[in-house]
Amino acid sequence: MSNPNDCAVILFSGGQDSTICLAWALENFAAVETIGFDYGQRHAIELESRQHIFRALREAFPDWSSNLGEDHLIDLDVLNKISDTALTQEAEIKMGADGLPNTFVPGRNLLFLTVAAAVAYRREARHIVGGMCETDYSGYPDCHDDAIKAMQLALNLGMDRRFVLHTPLMWIDKAESWAMAERLGGAALTDIILEETHTCYLGIRETRHNWGYGCGTCPACELRASGYKKYRAQAAS
Ligand code: ZN
Repeated sequence: MSNPNDCAVILFSGGQDSTICLAWALENFAAVETIGFDYGQRHAIELESRQHIFRALREAFPDWSSNLGEDHLIDLDVLNKISDTALTQEAEIKMGADGLPNTFVPGRNLLFLTVAAAVAYRREARHIVGGMCETDYSGYPDCHDDAIKAMQLALNLGMDRRFVLHTPLMWIDKAESWAMAERLGGAALTDIILEETHTCYLGIRETRHNWGYGCGTCPACELRASGYKKYRAQAAS
């Protein structure tokens, strides 16, 4: 990578949010590298989606393609070993007594950011981008703005760098994130998000709904469906 100020490392899972963040990063930085994590998540289909999304973005957006650099896929199987959650085990998805869904993997996003910073350190990138959002996932404490700001401080002190952590979706809901995608890449981008991204907790892609693929009933599908419906309604009014 060249000038650190032009370089970003982005957490890219292959889901709807991280794909919008990738488009945002490609629009804002000259050199963008992606990082994905394999931790035995039961919707490993996300990891396949990543490759389809790379291909589709390169075809539809030649300008962005020249900004898109190396992809880093990191094995974090340790998360599977130390946690017992519905994201990594074949358990029913339900809410816990603490108000958190049992898809919550404690500290997952903190670990992701630490690994991303280690990669950014080595690649001499100033910027780290993540799709954390306080609006829709307020139950996940490691998606909260204060947690991200505290991580930025801890990473900068602990690695003696001046990283800047960006969370473009932090204060917007799903409908607004669709509108952001439309602003960034028009229908070509929203089509890629509908067709290629994967969000469903159960990893189901058999049924194509108007909001994309998924089981239609898990919390992630419900959120995606309601966000898309609201976005379409706002676009029509
Ligand atoms: Zn689902």
